[in-house]
Amino acid sequence: MRVGILALQGAFIEHQNMLENLGVTAVQVRLSQQLNDLDGLIIPGGESTTIAKLAIDFGLFSDLKTYAATHPVWGTCAGAILLAKDDQSHPPRLDLMDIHLARNAFGRQIDSFQAELSVPVLDHLDGNKQTFPAVFIRAPIIQSVGKKVEILAQLGYDKIVAARQGNWLATVFHPELTDDNRFHRYYLEMIPSK
Ligand code: GLN
Repeated sequence: MRVGILALQGAFIEHQNMLENLGVTAVQVRLSQQLNDLDGLIIPGGESTTIAKLAIDFGLFSDLKTYAATHPVWGTCAGAILLAKDDQSHPPRLDLMDIHLARNAFGRQIDSFQAELSVPVLDHLDGNKQTFPAVFIRAPIIQSVGKKVEILAQLGYDKIVAARQGNWLATVFHPELTDDNRFHRYYLEMIPSK
């Protein structure tokens, strides 16, 4: 299995390490043609304005959109922002997943935090059904989701922080910064075996 990680800015090395530890070939993607032979793509966290700007400047943005429309794609944090429907706000989005996010919803960098989340879709990966240690770094929040979107995790009663719509997975936190690989395994399960 070959999984690409958009490697323009942000936490792509950490995703690469996670994937390689799971025996997956991880490819750093900076050019359109590198999308050709991938089974899936991760858009990492970082700064969504910077990632979008670089993707546009590198001539990659529309190819990313075409690729992501038909493949399993996981966006973490800034990546989740980019995967969302284009609501005409900054930065431009890939206009795919029917989720609406508010950026920097928990405050500034200094307000970053870790929280234990209940994530029922991970339970089959762990007999103990442990909570997931979620790292929030200047994270957005998913304010609303469309009818086809499954909510995977909430913080407190009302804050949606992980969601899936078919081939697309969005988490507003950073599983690649923990030593818990269950979200990566869950994403790999979304990729059809050949
Ligand atoms: N605050 C960033 C943004 O709006 C996202 C932060 C992150 O990816 N950890 O793009």
